[in-house]
Amino acid sequence: MHLTTRIKKSKQMIRLVRPMEVSPSDLIYPIFVREDGKKFEIPSMKGEYYLSLQDAVKTCSKTMELGIPAVMIFGVLRRKDAEGSIALQKNSFHSKVFKRLKKEFGDDLVLISNVCLCDYTEREFCVYTVNGKVLNEKTAVMLGRIGVVHAEAGADVIAPAAMADGQVKAIRSALDDKGFDDVAVMTYVKTDSCLFQPFFKTMTLSTAPRVGVDSSKFRADIINKKMFMQKVDLDISEGADIVIVKPALTNLDLILRTKQRHPTIPIAAYQVSGEYAMIKCTAEEGLLNEESLLMETLSSIKRAGADMILTYHALQAARLLLK
Ligand SMILES: [Zn+2]
Repeated sequence: MHLTTRIKKSKQMIRLVRPMEVSPSDLIYPIFVREDGKKFEIPSMKGEYYLSLQDAVKTCSKTMELGIPAVMIFGVLRRKDAEGSIALQKNSFHSKVFKRLKKEFGDDLVLISNVCLCDYTEREFCVYTVNGKVLNEKTAVMLGRIGVVHAEAGADVIAPAAMADGQVKAIRSALDDKGFDDVAVMTYVKTDSCLFQPFFKTMTLSTAPRVGVDSSKFRADIINKKMFMQKVDLDISEGADIVIVKPALTNLDLILRTKQRHPTIPIAAYQVSGEYAMIKCTAEEGLLNEESLLMETLSSIKRAGADMILTYHALQAARLLLK
């Protein structure tokens, strides 16, 4: 008689028959570097800290020691301006961060630049708009210019987060024009999720909620897989090297679908701030075990087809995996 329990006889037997496991080399650690140099716990993401540039160097060293190959950089500026032109200034804060980290770590650590207008514009929208209409081309051209600034400073990968149509094409051609044909484009494809909310609180300079543009105009409808795949197809046709599916846990089917449809394109999944909060808060309440929940979610994301996972739990996960 065939018994399914034979291959579950021991923990090691179970490991032996696993087709895959999450490994520290799958992980990417997103970090928040503050221009004002202040280090403190991020109120909307308990357990994670804003870093000064000096702290960022130390954190990156720790990241590398744990076998994590990449960090994603979020720069938290002192001020923003109407059109986000602050992003293009010579010696911008982001440039300083990339220069410093590149000088320190060379090619031993992959530096990924999150590129979005909300990091630089006073209104903190991801895209330019007029009367509520999304201005794709204007947004894409600006993202391309910002991408070049970051590539010049040492970014290895440009990750446009705006969900603008044409963003990958504009960034690719801006990079190629300046000789950065070796810099990859890692495009975000996002569903219109409430799980991003703790993140917005980490990046905003204002306490007022963002009003004026409905994010459903540029993100994909959560229930509509066709709409999501249409954006994946478009970004890949424009030259995306890697696709990020975001959020991860509510889009496991979309990770699988993207993987199946584009088997040669590496797929990343972003375990976002709301997912981080769900794990942290349920653990804090004593409802679930943080480590078990973390590893279960990461494993399910990997099983769905992600080749790499961006997670605020990266350091903790790597430590658990190395135990
Ligand atoms: Zn944005």
